Amino acid sequence: MGRVSLNTLLQRSEKNMGSGMNPIVKKSALELVRRAYAEGINAQISHGMRTYAQQNALYAQGRTKKGAVVTNARGGYSNHNFGLAVDYFLTNNEGTTAIWDVDKKWRRVAAIGKSLGFSWGGDWTSFKDYPHLEMTGGLSTAQLRAGKRPNLVDKTGTKTAAATPTKVSSATASSGGSSYIKEAQKYANSRDYPTKAKFTKLTVDGYKGPKTMNALLRIYQYYAKVAIDGIFGRNSKAAGSIQSRKKHTPGWTRLIQSLLNVHGHKLAVDGIFGSGTEAALKSFQRSKGIAVDGIAGPNTYEKFFK
Ligand SMILES: [Zn+2]
Repeated sequence: MGRVSLNTLLQRSEKNMGSGMNPIVKKSALELVRRAYAEGINAQISHGMRTYAQQNALYAQGRTKKGAVVTNARGGYSNHNFGLAVDYFLTNNEGTTAIWDVDKKWRRVAAIGKSLGFSWGGDWTSFKDYPHLEMTGGLSTAQLRAGKRPNLVDKTGTKTAAATPTKVSSATASSGGSSYIKEAQKYANSRDYPTKAKFTKLTVDGYKGPKTMNALLRIYQYYAKVAIDGIFGRNSKAAGSIQSRKKHTPGWTRLIQSLLNVHGHKLAVDGIFGSGTEAALKSFQRSKGIAVDGIAGPNTYEKFFK
């Protein structure tokens, strides 16, 4: 067996990071794997995002549950809980065995990480955490728990975030405008919405403009049963229906999918609040610096329209 391929290391790393990572942290971690590989070092990311529940389970290990203590952080007290940290390890040549020796190669990977903007847990004085790399943008976990999010600098010098080139779907390849914005515009024109929500039928051109945004806002106000005036004020904000993967209605979900599409996401406007819609919503919330809970409520609606 020859050397494990870079693609394999990237794909495993991407999978291990899970969903909900800060995009720059994720991209930088994958770039770390690439740069180490180019130097003959097989590095792989073992962990990325951890939910509060996962963090609490880890915290219990060696305390209320058996095993060795692996963390001093409860849920909400680790930068992993905010998608801002990753852990790495090295593999043997074939990529079949993990290697945890903190040797010259291990330290070289840490150095590459630091050049990409990460802080390394091996530099900590109180509790050394050699696999750990994080980017917090100077924010404390208290600030992160309060909902603040860092503005991180991308030091990778590359464009792609994904481990593997994503296939260009026929939908995105169609000429002129975004086909996903077209879906949003078609939705706005459907079911008598132009009449009910008092706007002129949209041109389905795939371009996000004031008319498209105004139409979606008016549909929002129609759904929310507030005055349909095309102005997102206090009453509009308060009246938005809370929608989540657990509890949602098809109409509101179509509206949310349309709004996500005009904000650059690529969803089918099908009224089904599945994992794709939830992931896009979380990504939108993260990009706007609001709580990343995958639940559309007043704060999310405000960011959609303002
Ligand atoms: Zn860690």
